[in-house]
Amino acid sequence: MADYSKIVEGIRKVFKSGRTKDIEWRRGQLMAMLKMLDEHRDKFIGALKTDLNKSRFESSVMEVDFARNDLISCLNSLASWVEPEKVSKGIINIMDKAYIRKEPYGVALIMGAWNYPIQLTLCPMIGAIAAGNCIVLKPSEISAASAKLLEDLMPKYFDNECIRCINGGVPETTALLKERWDYIFYTGNSMVGKIIMRAAAEHLTPVTLELGGKSPVYVDNDVDLGIVANRIMWGKCTNAGQTCIAPDYIMCTKQTQDALVEKMKSTLNNFYPDGPAKSEDYPRIVNDRHFQRVKKLMTGSGKVAIGGDSDETQRYISPTVLTDVKFADPIMQDEIFGPVLPIVPVRNEDEAIQHILDGEKPLSMYVYSQNQSLVDKMTESCSSGGFVSNDCLLHAGVPTLPFGGVGNSGMGAYHGQFSFNTFSHKRACLEKKLKMEGVNSLRYPPFTSKKENS
Ligand code: NAD
Repeated sequence: MADYSKIVEGIRKVFKSGRTKDIEWRRGQLMAMLKMLDEHRDKFIGALKTDLNKSRFESSVMEVDFARNDLISCLNSLASWVEPEKVSKGIINIMDKAYIRKEPYGVALIMGAWNYPIQLTLCPMIGAIAAGNCIVLKPSEISAASAKLLEDLMPKYFDNECIRCINGGVPETTALLKERWDYIFYTGNSMVGKIIMRAAAEHLTPVTLELGGKSPVYVDNDVDLGIVANRIMWGKCTNAGQTCIAPDYIMCTKQTQDALVEKMKSTLNNFYPDGPAKSEDYPRIVNDRHFQRVKKLMTGSGKVAIGGDSDETQRYISPTVLTDVKFADPIMQDEIFGPVLPIVPVRNEDEAIQHILDGEKPLSMYVYSQNQSLVDKMTESCSSGGFVSNDCLLHAGVPTLPFGGVGNSGMGAYHGQFSFNTFSHKRACLEKKLKMEGVNSLRYPPFTSKKENS
């Protein structure tokens, strides 16, 4: 293992020199990332194929171009984001300058998860660079091909005295977490999130935690179930369900469940005419441990209404829908993070709301209904990181919306300007003149009653 203390010390020294505060430096590093993506698009797509069997389309839209679009909008807006923000002031400060300076924290540790190994590393980096921080990136060891590619390419594009990629598993991460960081941005599961926060507490380091959870779906009785089936199955089959905001489970009435399942069968036939196993468009489970975990979830909860097939040699799990699942069943205890979709029949939206309120706050929540008052009722009754009505996942692609969790699904947010804000300390600045001492002296002792009443 490398000497991390020495690496961080070296990077911090350069940070203190002020190099990264220069807007041109930031712009240069962002341009370098753009160049890296453009010159090696095929390598990124190839690594994602190796890690998760992602299709070219999914890798482009959800990873390479996702980061690219974030980069371009950041480059276009950087000049305005870095501007100090004037604030309104009271009469007492009428002659003073009051403003907020956006300053970098220093050296940021960014740790990515394996399910979107390019997007989840590069997008936080965009915010960190834009805000003028130095970075140590720790990709997930589970998506090994993507991690290796980042480790190989990054030194060729970035200023290595300020931006580094360090690969490794739990021992390396544990060692990295002993260092003093000025910011930690972590994406992964909630259990490790607690480890990160404990380590950060040691140095009072601020954190953003992008975690997971069970994102619920409620389907009302009044909707076009063909459209709903398309949209939910798209959300669940994307990356074979290994998406932090994937629809985790559905709640609807028993009658809606039975009709929805029929529509889902047609949806899957349309998505994968020769079956998902033969389709180039259907990803695989990332490793054997996760394959065994997801496979186990296909049994012991409700009935298999669709799918239920698997192939260990390929880590293939078919899109699987379970019906008549109960809240107490094994599949309803933890985030599924795979292509298995349980449907829990409920009497009405009140039962669904009660169930959401009784659990941890989810990362996302989805409601399919034509009835705006029902949509409003569900949004107002329950908290979640994000919310979409009549679709799923798409809020993550709206750069003007903050992306993040709440409670057990995380803290802090990013994407677009929110990424820049996350990595910026908002410094309160008040600039005064050595004038008007008469007015100013009102605050000096002795505190006479005349001063108190003035
Ligand atoms: P992972 O195993 O790749 O872990 C993420 C990071 O934590 C890696 O860099 C890894 O090296 C590190 N890590 C793992 N165990 C550790 C330990 N014991 N000590 C210190 N560091 C450790 O990814 P994962 O956690 O399996 O990711 C899946 C989870 O992440 C799901 O819960 C998913 O919902 C969540 N997720 C959230 C988002 C989001 O944006 N909110 C995005 C993707 C994934």
